[in-house]
Amino acid sequence: MPYATRRGDRLDWVRFDFELARDGSIEPTDKALYAAISSFVDAETRRSSNDVGTVANDVSEDVPTRQRLAECIGKSVSTVDRCIKSLEQRGLLKVHRRRHPDNPKVFVPSEYELLPYQPQPRVVPAVIVPPPRKRVPISEAKRARVLTRDGHSCRGCGANEDLTIDHIKHWSRGGSNADDNLRVLCRSCNSKRSDGSLDGVDA
Ligand SMILES: [Zn+2]
Repeated sequence: MPYATRRGDRLDWVRFDFELARDGSIEPTDKALYAAISSFVDAETRRSSNDVGTVANDVSEDVPTRQRLAECIGKSVSTVDRCIKSLEQRGLLKVHRRRHPDNPKVFVPSEYELLPYQPQPRVVPAVIVPPPRKRVPISEAKRARVLTRDGHSCRGCGANEDLTIDHIKHWSRGGSNADDNLRVLCRSCNSKRSDGSLDGVDA
C-alpha cells in the first residue's frame, strides 16, 4: 500500500499557494493533488502521534491509492496520473516505486514524497533590437527639386554654400524621402541639428 510523506517542515499552505500563484507554473488540478497528498501526510502524522499502539479500524480511507486520490480531487484516475507526472516534472513530488507483488514486471507507487516549493529560475526574454532601416538614397532629380524649392539656401541660416538635403523627421526614426520631409540645410546647420542644438529649425 502506498503512503505519503513530506520532506522538510510542515506545509505552510497559504505561502505555498501564494508562491505557486505568483510563479504561475502549476495547474489548479496539480495543486489540488498536492493538497490531497498533503492531507494523507497529515492523517498519517495524526495517527502515529495519537493512536500509538492501536490499529486504525479503517485503514483503506487513509491510503493514498490512485483511486482514493482521484476521489479527493474529484477527477479521474488518469487525471491523477497526469498530475503526478506534472508535479514530478515541476520538482514538487518524488514518487518512490516498487515492484508489484503479483506482477514483478509492473512498478507501483510505494511512497509519494512531497517536496518543498522551489522557485523556478526566471527566464528573462531576450531583447530583440530590430535592424536599422536600410537607407534609400535621394535621387538627383529630387535633390534638385528640393534645392530649387528652398531657393538654394540653408533653411537654418540662409547660407548658400555647402548645402545638404536634410530629413526633417530623421530617417532612423521612420522619416521618409517624401519632398515635404526634406529641406535644405548647410553642413554646419545640419551638424548642429544632429546634436539637437538647432532651435527653431527642427520641425
Ligand atoms: Zn545653415
